[in-house]
Amino acid sequence: MRLIVFIISIFIVSLTVAVFYGEILVDSSLFFKAILLYWLFSTLYSHLTIVVKKGKLNMDYGISYGLSFGLLAGPLGLFIFEFVQRFIVYFNRKYSNTADPDEFLHTFYNIGAFTLNNSIAFFLFQMLYPGFQNLPFGFWLLIIILVITVSLLSDLYLITIFTISKDIMSIKEAIDFIKSRSILDMGKTAFSNGLLFLLLMEQQWEMVIALFLLNYLVSRSFLFKSQTIQHKLERDRFEQMAYTDFLTTVYNRTYMDKIMQELNNSGECIGVIVSDIDTFKRINDTYNHAVGDYVIQHYAATLQNNLQEKDCLIRSGGEEFTIFLRHRSFQQCVELLEKIRVEVECSPVPTEYKSDHVAINYTASFGLYYYKTGGETEIKRAYVYADELLLQAKESGKNRVTAKNGTMNLPLTSRFK
Ligand code: GH3
Ligand code: MG
Ligand code: MG
Repeated sequence: MRLIVFIISIFIVSLTVAVFYGEILVDSSLFFKAILLYWLFSTLYSHLTIVVKKGKLNMDYGISYGLSFGLLAGPLGLFIFEFVQRFIVYFNRKYSNTADPDEFLHTFYNIGAFTLNNSIAFFLFQMLYPGFQNLPFGFWLLIIILVITVSLLSDLYLITIFTISKDIMSIKEAIDFIKSRSILDMGKTAFSNGLLFLLLMEQQWEMVIALFLLNYLVSRSFLFKSQTIQHKLERDRFEQMAYTDFLTTVYNRTYMDKIMQELNNSGECIGVIVSDIDTFKRINDTYNHAVGDYVIQHYAATLQNNLQEKDCLIRSGGEEFTIFLRHRSFQQCVELLEKIRVEVECSPVPTEYKSDHVAINYTASFGLYYYKTGGETEIKRAYVYADELLLQAKESGKNRVTAKNGTMNLPLTSRFK
C-alpha cells in the first residue's frame, strides 16, 4: 500500500510540474517527428535491453533518451513523450505476455520518475547553462552533471521503493546499490543525449538517425562479442568435463585418443609409460571399494605432483595410468619413474577404515617405451610396447620400472629396481 502511495505521488508530482509549466517548447511538427523517431529506435533497442531482477522488480538497464527530449521540449512535452512511450511498452508486454504482475504500477513509476528527474534536469540546464556556456566543453560538462544528478535521484526513489518492499534492509545495501551503477553507462547516456539534443535543435534528422543507428550497432556488436566469449567459455568447460576422469580429475581415455593423434606426428622424443598399481585387488578385498578408490586418487596425485605441465597423465583403466613424458632424455625419464616408484613405496596412504586410522602400503610397476615420434613407429604401437614392458615388470616381481629406448635400436630391455 505504501508502495502504491509513493509511486502515485511521484506520478502526480511529475504531472503537476508538467501542467504548471504548461507549454511545449518546440513546434508540433518537430515534436511529433521526434516522438516517432525515439519510439522507433527504442523499439529497435528493446531486445538489447539488459533486464536485472532486483527483489520483485525487473529493472531495465537500457540507455534512456529522456534527457535530450526533456531539454528540447520542456516538462510538458517530456510528460507526453514518456506517457506515450511507456504505455506502448506496457501494451506490447501485455500483448506478448512478458509483463510483470505489477507492470501497470511500474509504468506509472517510470513515467513519473523519468519525467520528474528529467524536468529537474531541464530546470537546472536553463539555470546553469549561461554560466557553463563560457567554459571550454561547458555544455558537455553540464550534461554530464545532469546525467549524474538524474541517476542519483532515480537511485533515491528506487532505494525508497526497495526499502518499502524490504529488498534493501541496511544503509550498506543502499550504498552498494548506488555503487552498482556503471560510470560507463552514464557516460554513454550523457554523450548520446547531448548530441541528440544539439542535432534535434538544428533539425538534423539524418544525423539523428545516424546517431541512433551508431548507438544500436555498437551495442549490438558488443552484445554479440560478449555472447561469443560466453559460448566459448561454456564450450571449453564442457570439453574440459568430457576429457576429465571423474574420480581422479586427471585426463580420461577420451583425451588419450585425442592427445595421441596430436603427438603422433610431432617429431619429438617422447616417453610413453603404462603404470599399474600392484596387487590392487588385495586392497579392495582387504578393505572396501571406497578405500580402493582413495588409493587410486592418492596414486594419481603422486604421479601428477611429479610431472610438469607439458607432460600428460591419463587414467587409462581402473588402477592403470598412461603417461606421456615430453622434452626429456631417456635417462631423465627413467630417473623420474624410479623416483616416483620409491616415493609410492615409501608413502603409505593414511585413511579410515571401520572408524580406525589405517595406513595402506602399496607399490606400482611401470613400463616405459622411449622413442621419436613421426617416424615408422605409430604412437599406438609405442603404447603396446609400453604395455608389454609393464607386463614384464609384473612378471619379474612387480614394484619396478622396465624400460626400453626405441631411439637406440637396441634389443636391450633395462630393468631397474
Ligand atoms: P596386478 O599386480 O597384476 O596389477 O594385480 P591387481 O590385483 O592390481 O590386478 P587385477 O587386474 O587382478 O585387479 C584390479 C582390480 O581393480 C579389479 C577391479 O575390481 C579393481 N578396480 C577397477 N577399477 C576400480 C575402481 O575404479 N575402484 C576400485 N576401488 N577398484 C577398481
Ligand atoms: Mg594392478
Ligand atoms: Mg590393472
